[in-house]
Amino acid sequence: MKKLMAANWKMFKTWDEARSTAEELVDLIGAKLPEDREILIFPPFTSLKGVGDVFSKAEGFFVGGQDFYIEEEGAFTGEISPKMLKDVGSVYGLTGHSERRHVLGEDDTYIGNKTSYGLSAGLKVVLCIGEKLEERKGGKIEEVLERQLRVGLKDVSLDVDPKNLSIAYEPVWAIGTGEVAGPEEIIKAHAFTRKILLSIFGEKANEMRILYGGSVKPGNCGEIIALDNVDGVLVGGASLHSESFSQIILA
Ligand code: PEP
Repeated sequence: MKKLMAANWKMFKTWDEARSTAEELVDLIGAKLPEDREILIFPPFTSLKGVGDVFSKAEGFFVGGQDFYIEEEGAFTGEISPKMLKDVGSVYGLTGHSERRHVLGEDDTYIGNKTSYGLSAGLKVVLCIGEKLEERKGGKIEEVLERQLRVGLKDVSLDVDPKNLSIAYEPVWAIGTGEVAGPEEIIKAHAFTRKILLSIFGEKANEMRILYGGSVKPGNCGEIIALDNVDGVLVGGASLHSESFSQIILA
């Protein structure tokens, strides 16, 4: 299984800035991209096409949409569909990111609807899960992860191609804070996630990627990516600069 080195650019970068960062990244990585790694960027919608065009000439580089709506088209002001994302070169879609859950108010059920709709509409989906600090302090990590997984995947077909569904474990307290979950915590959460996936999808769950996200940096990525059941990373802040993201990709 190839490791997925994913970047979430959130609401950062204009068209020119996004294209320059993408071009720098392709130049920095060039032929050095290891066989077992893939690169994925979630740019803002406004630069999806620009970044996708840069990546179209580079093997192993993909773009995805940070969000999408659960219809093909219609009177849904401000929304964008998987069909539109694919039209501008997106292969992936992101669901359940903590900012959409906790800043924009999306609940588990809606995130589940998006995850199954995105897959059935032909996107590969990365579903984010993760506990808040108070849930961690209250010993509720597994309870939260299990609920987010079972509701988030409730309508996903059991026939899903396992290569099309990835989970990103992102403890909310580690996102953008400089705090990273320790190796034991990551191993435990990823093993638990794999166990739940196996209970839903059977053996094919071993082919689903589980990414870690939360203050991944060039200095800690090598250790994290080598842990059991860590099949990639999802990076926010450190992915905004081509230099630091290229070091993470090659870590
Ligand atoms: C994220 O936004 O998904 C993320 C993990 O951010 P950061 O790497 O900045 O913690």
